[in-house]
Order: sequence, then structure tokens, then C-alpha cells
Amino acid sequence: MSVYEVGLRLEGKAVLVVGGGTIAARRVPRLLEAGARVRLVAPEVTTTLGDYAEAGELHWERRPWASGDTAGAWFVLAATDDPAVNAAVAAEAEADRIWCVRADDAEASGAWTLARAAFDGVSVAVAASGDPGRAAAVRDAVAERLRSGEIDAPRTRGGHAPGVALIGAGPGDADLITLRGLELLRQAEVVVSDRLAPQALLDLLADDVEVVDAAKLPYGRHTTQEQINAVMVERALAGRFVVRLKGGDGFVFGRGAEELDACIEAGVPVEVVPGLSSSIAGPAAAGISVTERGIVHDFTVVTGHVPPGDAKSRVNWDALAKSNGTLVLLMAVKNRAAIAEALIAGGRDAGSPVRVVENATTKNQTVRACTLAELGSSEAHHPAVIVIGAVAGRGREL
Ligand code: SAH
Repeated sequence: MSVYEVGLRLEGKAVLVVGGGTIAARRVPRLLEAGARVRLVAPEVTTTLGDYAEAGELHWERRPWASGDTAGAWFVLAATDDPAVNAAVAAEAEADRIWCVRADDAEASGAWTLARAAFDGVSVAVAASGDPGRAAAVRDAVAERLRSGEIDAPRTRGGHAPGVALIGAGPGDADLITLRGLELLRQAEVVVSDRLAPQALLDLLADDVEVVDAAKLPYGRHTTQEQINAVMVERALAGRFVVRLKGGDGFVFGRGAEELDACIEAGVPVEVVPGLSSSIAGPAAAGISVTERGIVHDFTVVTGHVPPGDAKSRVNWDALAKSNGTLVLLMAVKNRAAIAEALIAGGRDAGSPVRVVENATTKNQTVRACTLAELGSSEAHHPAVIVIGAVAGRGREL
């Protein structure tokens, strides 16, 4: 069974999908992503397909297939659970010289959907003589190596346009960056990095990428933040693509807003790529869910870098003491005693369970348990997420 591989450019082209089950639900998103105008003919559809129809992203005709339906289509997918219907659809398509994929019978199918993966502007599609499991395995292997950089795929035409991407790199484990973040990082010409950003990500960069360690910028007359903004903007204006790589999410105690403003002010194109924040991912990695149905319906993420009572503090510790929601403290190792004291004085139960999650998601992750009253004297080391409240006491062994 041999095939001739082509790439169909379906933008604006009519595509007929017959059947609304799980196979159609798996294929339709890609067809829509490719820009096809999808017409779906099926008496019933899955919830997802129904949602697409409701949102106007495809046209659903709620009825069984009828002869004549293939007219006008460039491409047909026969994916009902009835082989006789699929055969009839395929036969009609064949007679009209329209390429048709029969989902139930590769042998009888005029065209095949290939196992596909895409990363960073490259897509690979694999056929394996009608063995879909084998095709998927090859696809997975190639996709994994593309992502890891094991397969080097340098661009020979046009790199990323000059500008800045503010990328949240996730809480610590290099694998927890988003696909978008990784894609853009691989295209970076300059990377301005942070101490808490997963350092393993920097190993992926080619030797000619300029890496600026934000922690080592000289600041003299200016603050480090001003220096960082200046470096980003200056390099981008000089025509380079700059990635600002941050630990967690750049907009959670990450000064992402200031960096975004600096780019906008300088007229530099800028993209924001959210990351997994240690405030949620840190507890999660220790088996703690910041909310739990029937137990806690809110959580608050607070910085502890200035203690309660300090003139610079903008936190209403009294209100937090009176709430019964989960408290997640970042940058609070140093001031944990003062914070615990203020919370107890304001009404929090001194026996509230507390978990201190250090180096979350890395190989050095540790979880320490204590009560709120004990927090001040219990061991804790930076970087740590401190979780206070009922959910902290429900941490599971992972
Ligand atoms: N933007 C980051 C937070 C920056 S503030 C985010 O969204 O995660 C820095 C604080 O984050 C640290 O003091 C610590 O409280 C927390 N933190 C970051 N990475 C951490 C990790 N791997 N384990 C525990 N805490 C972490």
C-alpha cells in the first residue's frame, strides 16, 4: 500500500465530514486549523463538535448522509460508524473525483490521514503502509527529537521578526515550559535570563545566541529593572529577536508588566507567553490543590518580601487573617515568622496546616510540614512556596 504524499492547502476550501463521532471529533480541529470550511453531516455529534457548530466554526447539518452531499467539496472525510454509509460516501466521492478518506477501511480508502506532528513551523506527516500504530510511533519519535533539539532544524529562510517575547518558563523543571515558549526560545537571538528560570533551557541554545544574565547586569545609576528593559529594547531595535526568560509566570511577581510597558513605549513588537506559576504548580507538585471542592473556594497569592506592618507593604494581612481561603506565600522565607504572627493575631487558627515546598518540580524538591504557629521556627530555604490552610493538610504522597 503506497501513497503519494502531498500537503493540501485547505484555506477557504469546502470540506465535507460525514459522521459526528470520536473520529470526526479528532480530525475536525486540524481541518479548521488549516482554514477549511467544514460542512458536517450527521444526525448526532459529540459535545466538542456541537460546540464548534454553536460557535459558528463549522456548518452542521443534523441529518443522515444523503446522496449528492459530496457535491462542491474539495475533500471528504467518511467517518460514520456504519461501513455501508462510509462506502457509499467514498463511492460518490470517487465518482466525482474528490479525494476521500474512509476512516474505517484504509484499504478501501482513496486517501489517508497521515500521523502528524508540528513544532516551530515544521510539520511531519508519516505513513507506514497502513499500520497506523507504526506511523504514530515514528511521528512521536520525530516530534520528540524536534522539540528536544536533537534534530537540528535551522531555518534557511527568514528567522523570527525583530522584537521581544516575554516568556514564563515555568516553576523549575525545564520540561514545564509551554510549547509556544520553547518554540520561541529556539528562535531567540538574544536571551535575557533570570536566576529562577530553568537553567537547563539555556543549554538548548546555539552558541551564537547572546545570553544576558539579568542578575549580573551592572546598574550604577539605574536599577537592574531599568537595565533589563534597556537591554531588551536596544537589542530589539537593533533588529534582533529577544527572549526575556522568567521563572514561573512573568506576570506573577515577575515585573512582566514593566517589561511589557517598556517595549510598548519603545514601539518594539512584543509577545507575552504565559508560564506555569510556582504559586499553583509548586503546591500541585507536592500533591496540594490550592482549591478543593467542598473545602476551600478561594486562594490568594501573596508576596512576603516585606513583612506585615512595614510601610512599604500593600497587603491587607488583617483581611487575609480573617479569610478562610488558601494562602500561598512567595518570597516569604525570610519574613515567615512575622507573617505567621500577624495572621494568628488577626484571627487565623494557630493550628492551620502549613506546607513549605522548596525547589518545586526540580530534583531537589522538598516538602516540609508544620502548623502556622510553628512556621516561624521551622526550617525553610529559598526558593519556597508556603501554603497555608486546610488544603495544605491534605497533601498526598506522590
Ligand atoms: N514569577 C514567579 C514568581 C517570582 S517571585 C512565578 O510565577 O512562579 C520568586 C518566588 O517564587 C520565590 O521566592 C519562591 O517563593 C517562588 N518560587 C519560584 N520558583 C520556585 C520553585 N521552584 N519552588 C518553590 N518556590 C519557587
